[in-house]
Amino acid sequence: MQVRKESSPLVHPKRARKLRDEQCMAEIVRFTARTLDTPSPVPFGALIVHTATGERLMRAVNAVRRENDPSAHAELRTVRKATRRLGTPSLKGYTLYTTCEPCPMCMANALWAGIDRVVYGATIEDASRHCRQIYVSARTLVKRSDMTCVVDGPILRDACYALFTHPNMLKTFATWNPRP
Ligand SMILES: [Zn+2]
Repeated sequence: MQVRKESSPLVHPKRARKLRDEQCMAEIVRFTARTLDTPSPVPFGALIVHTATGERLMRAVNAVRRENDPSAHAELRTVRKATRRLGTPSLKGYTLYTTCEPCPMCMANALWAGIDRVVYGATIEDASRHCRQIYVSARTLVKRSDMTCVVDGPILRDACYALFTHPNMLKTFATWNPRP
């Protein structure tokens, strides 16, 4: 049995990956939760990690309202900051963790960046209970492209969804693009 270098020889690679996924997701949930007591709470956060080593590269939260930029989604901002830091438009060899399944814009951007793997927490359906969504799943977007990216999730869905149902977040959602 082949075992990854960074894991204990007693831990199966699949188990080691699951543990890393949960650890990374818990990290980005905690980071995103820090916004909940600020004037601009958001439930969307993303983290980019080196796929082989697990080294953390970049993290960011959604800043659409703070920056008045409709494209300032957490995943897109994290990719932008990461590629700037690396000095290349390619994030081949990296995994993107996100508290919510990426929208088509962010999933397309992840494909253009050549990200290996996208791991999400809450689903587009979860998010749609609180804010507007585009109903194209991340997996569908990958299938409709000639690029490859593994999409895994939902992981720690309840912890991620709890970001959406925090009292401050619920109050703030009421001010976002109210539905007719
Ligand atoms: Zn997005």
